[in-house]
Amino acid sequence: MSASPPSTSTDRVREIAAAVRGECTPDAPMAPRTSIRVGGPADLLVRPADPPDLAALLWNCAARRVPVMVLGGGANLLVADAGIRGVVVRLPVDFGEESEEGERLVLSAGAPVSRLVQRALAAGLTGCEFASGIPGTLGGAAAMNAGTRIGEMKDVVERVEVATPEGLLWIPAAGLSYAYRSCRLPPGAVVTRVGFRLRRGDVTASRAVMDADREHRRRTQPLNWPTWGSTFRNPPGDHAGRLVEAVGLKGHREGNAMWSDLHANFVVNLGGATARDCLALIRVARERVRERFGVELELEVRLAGAFAPDEHP
Ligand SMILES: Cc1cc2nc3c(=O)[nH]c(=O)nc-3n(C[C@H](O)[C@H](O)[C@H](O)COP(=O)(O)OP(=O)(O)OC[C@H]3O[C@@H](n4cnc5c(N)ncnc54)[C@H](O)[C@@H]3O)c2cc1C
Repeated sequence: MSASPPSTSTDRVREIAAAVRGECTPDAPMAPRTSIRVGGPADLLVRPADPPDLAALLWNCAARRVPVMVLGGGANLLVADAGIRGVVVRLPVDFGEESEEGERLVLSAGAPVSRLVQRALAAGLTGCEFASGIPGTLGGAAAMNAGTRIGEMKDVVERVEVATPEGLLWIPAAGLSYAYRSCRLPPGAVVTRVGFRLRRGDVTASRAVMDADREHRRRTQPLNWPTWGSTFRNPPGDHAGRLVEAVGLKGHREGNAMWSDLHANFVVNLGGATARDCLALIRVARERVRERFGVELELEVRLAGAFAPDEHP
């Protein structure tokens, strides 16, 4: 009797899909799900029905050694042209129970960042003004420690609920090692809900700060083009955009991607850009800034998927 052939990754992904109660999309195009509109398909995109469905999915993926990636709003993400092997999880907008008690809010990680701002204003709470113009989801913002000059998520996040292959647990913010645009989550964890602590305050003043921030963005960011926002983290004491501009790259094109002529830390897709085009822009900026200033620019945008070795910036 011959032994049965080993299962292929396609078989394993199919088995995983069969066990999900939520929505599954095989070969899901990722470009329309990212703000820069670039990247190939994911083997399987899963929108879990509820937290137990998500925990079971993560357990199944771990047991079958199928990689999992979490997609938020795709607002700071570059997906490879070859796409993403394995499972991509995208939470529904309303995932898990939300609550409001005094100065505390618990919100779904799949909800847009704007939900935090709206709920805070409606409840007479302040402290999250920085979040008003940040695209993406609350889960992505909590995982990236998204922020601006006037504040960041770590100032208002009290705890996060995460799903892991072992189940759901709450982690206090102090356990997340929050730093500039980063935090440390358990490996493979998906943020499912975010607990915020805000403070009672003057919401009229809060609104004025947010209006001014939005106006500033309108003037300084290429908001009419597909973009992922900031490409590089600001090096200590400097601005990545200033360095990229200083080496003459504002408006520089590679294929159909371009360093924005408005904000030199933003890449824009002029139409039909590929991940390869975007990576070529990143590479040329890194090389020129290293040569001229001796500064090693680090990526803020996250890379996802199967990049060829020669594509890496
Ligand atoms: C026009 C524009 C302006 C921007 N301005 C700012 C700004 O001012 N400040 C700023 O900080 N950012 C800014 N960004 C970048 C982006 O909005 C933030 O990084 C945002 O927090 C990304 O959230 P997302 O849900 O889109 O995450 P995605 O881009 O989908 O994912 C980013 C990373 O977070 C992980 N992730 C997403 N969701 C979860 C989850 N639920 N659990 C665990 N990990 C998760 C992903 O795996 C990935 O590694 C801007 C982007 C654009 C396009």
